[in-house]
Amino acid sequence: MHCVCIDPGSEKSLSEIDYIEKNGLTLDYIILTHEHTDHTWGCNALVERYEVRVVCSEVCKQNLANEFQAYFLLYYDNPDYHYTVCNVDNTTEELGGILDWQGHSFKFVYTPGHSMGSVCVLIEGMLFTGDTVMQSKPYINKRNGSKEKFKESIEMILNRFDGNQLIYPGHGEVFKLKDYNQ
Ligand SMILES: [Zn+2]
Repeated sequence: MHCVCIDPGSEKSLSEIDYIEKNGLTLDYIILTHEHTDHTWGCNALVERYEVRVVCSEVCKQNLANEFQAYFLLYYDNPDYHYTVCNVDNTTEELGGILDWQGHSFKFVYTPGHSMGSVCVLIEGMLFTGDTVMQSKPYINKRNGSKEKFKESIEMILNRFDGNQLIYPGHGEVFKLKDYNQ
């Protein structure tokens, strides 16, 4: 069976690789909702191991090539956090905002703010929101985010999707958009 991984965030992707191997999956794509360490840390390990394509927004791609945009490094100078992800195969812009895969259509929605490279990904009834729409308040720092843009992105999501839209956040449990605590 073929699969896609959104935000491989563990160190060296050990849990992701374990899941792929145990289930005999073929990993076709890695989709990154944004450039922060806890969403991208395992990306290089998967790329080294599998023939997989990486997709993210243009700004995310630019930031991934610069280790000082890695979220953890903004706070803790640990040598393990010095990494770059340089092999992005397609940006969401190059794809025209849509990725067709195995009869499914993934639609990318640009939601800068939490980080400037953030996107949400709509896959049929599921909206994967990274750190943009989640029940715990995301931290936004001036060095790679914008509170104003974040507010605009949240308003756009609330206008564009109805209350029953299922939200799959980067942290925390699945919830309906109408239950979002702003
Ligand atoms: Zn983040």
